[in-house]
Amino acid sequence: MYDYLIVGAGLFGSVFAYEAHKRGKKCLVVDKRNHIGGNVYTEKMEDIHVHTYGAHIFHTNNQKIWDYINEFAEFNRYTNSPIANYKGEIYNLPFNMNTFNKLWGVVTPQEAKAKIEEQKNAAGVTDPKNLEEQAISLVGTDIYEKLIKGYTEKQWGRPASELPAFIIKRLPVRFTYDNNYFNDRYQGIPIGGYTGIIEKMLQNIEVRLNVDFFEKREELKGLAKKVVYTGMIDQYYDYKYGILEYRSLHFETKVMKDTDNYQGNAVVNYTDQETPYTRIIEHKHFEFGTGDKTVITEEYPSEWKPGDEPYYPINDDKNNEVYRKYKELADNEANVIFGGRLATYKYYDMHQIIGAALVTVEKEFGS
Ligand code: FAD
Ligand code: UDP
Repeated sequence: MYDYLIVGAGLFGSVFAYEAHKRGKKCLVVDKRNHIGGNVYTEKMEDIHVHTYGAHIFHTNNQKIWDYINEFAEFNRYTNSPIANYKGEIYNLPFNMNTFNKLWGVVTPQEAKAKIEEQKNAAGVTDPKNLEEQAISLVGTDIYEKLIKGYTEKQWGRPASELPAFIIKRLPVRFTYDNNYFNDRYQGIPIGGYTGIIEKMLQNIEVRLNVDFFEKREELKGLAKKVVYTGMIDQYYDYKYGILEYRSLHFETKVMKDTDNYQGNAVVNYTDQETPYTRIIEHKHFEFGTGDKTVITEEYPSEWKPGDEPYYPINDDKNNEVYRKYKELADNEANVIFGGRLATYKYYDMHQIIGAALVTVEKEFGS
C-alpha cells in the first residue's frame, strides 16, 4: 500500500513526490510516457542536451524557488535573448530600444514612445479587450503586424482578435537597450540538462513508465490512500462537461551535418504567417557549446485533438468556463489532489509549477 499514487512524472508530480518521500511517505509515480520529466525532459544527442519538448529556460523572481531548484542542479549564466526573423529582416526581442531603432530609426526612448502613441491613437485602441488590441496598445501597429500577428495566429490557430490579452503581456516591453527576454532576477539553464533534476527528485521513489492511468484506473487507485493527478482534468471526469481545448506541437529535431553553428542564437522566432514553424531552437547555444556538431529543433504548432500531446491550454472565456465546472468537482474530491499545467488548465512556467507544488505540499503536510 502506498500513501500517494502520483500520476505524471513531470515537474509538479516530481516535486510533490520528493517532498512527500522526505516526510516518510511511500509514493508510486506513474507516467504514460517512456521517460520521466514531462515536458522539461532533455536528452543527449551529439553531446548536446536537447530540449525534447521545446526550449526551456528557467527564470524566477522568487529567491525561495531559485534556491530550491539549485538544490538539484547548478545553473549556467544563459540569458534568453531570442531574435525574430520576419521575411529575412532580423529584430531583437523582447520589444525594446534595439527593436524600435531597427524598425523606425528612433534613437531615444521619447521618440519610441511617441511613435507607439501615434500608432495606438491612429488604431483607436483605448481599452484593449483582446490580444490584438493589447498588442497595438503596447507597441503600435508596425510591431503588431511584423512581429506579433503572424506568430500568434500560427501559434494559437485563431485570429489575434479572439485571443485573451494576457498572453501577450508575458512579454516585456522596454524602453532600454536590453534584449533580456525576462524581467526576473534569476535565470539560467541547468548544467547537465533538466532530466538530471528530475532524476534527483525521484531517486529512491518507485516510478513506473509506460503506464496510462486510465488504462488501469481502479487497480492503480486501489494501491494508494491518495492520488496526486497531473494529467488533463477533463479526461479525469470523462469529458462530462465537454472537452477543454489545447494547442499541440510537433517538433522536428535535426542533427546538422554541414555546420557547427546553424543560426548563431539559441532561439529564432519566425514571425511571418507563411513559415509553417514558429521557432527554431539551436540547443548548443543554451550551453555556450563549442563542439563541431549542432542540433536544431523546428516547432510546428497544430490544433489539439484527443490522443495528441496537449501543450498549451487555450484560456479563453469559453474554455475557462468549462474548466470552472471541472474544478468544482475537483475541489470536492476528498482523496485526489489536482496539480500542474494540465490538471489546473493554466499556462504555467516551471517556476510557477514549483511554487504551486510547494503550496500543495504545505497544505498536505503543514510546513
Ligand atoms: P507536464 O510536464 O506536462 O507533466 C505531466 C505528466 O503527466 C507528463 O509526463 C504526462 O505524460 C503525464 N500524464 C498525463 N496524463 C497521464 C495519464 N493518463 N497517465 C499517466 N501519465 C500521464 N516553462 C518555463 O519556465 N520556461 C520555458 O522556457 C518554458 N518553455 C516551454 C516551452 C514549451 C513548448 C512548452 C509546452 C512549455 C514550456 N514551459 C516553460 C512550461 C513547462 O514545460 C511547464 O511549466 C512544466 O513542464 C509543467 O509541468 P507539469 O508537471 O505540470 O506538466
Ligand atoms: N509572441 C509573438 N511574437 C514573438 C514571440 C511571442 O507574437 O516573436 C506572442 C505569441 O502570442 C506567444 C506569446 O507572445 O504565444 C507568448 O510568448 P512566449 O515566448 O512567452 O511563448 P512560449 O515560450 O510560452 O511559447
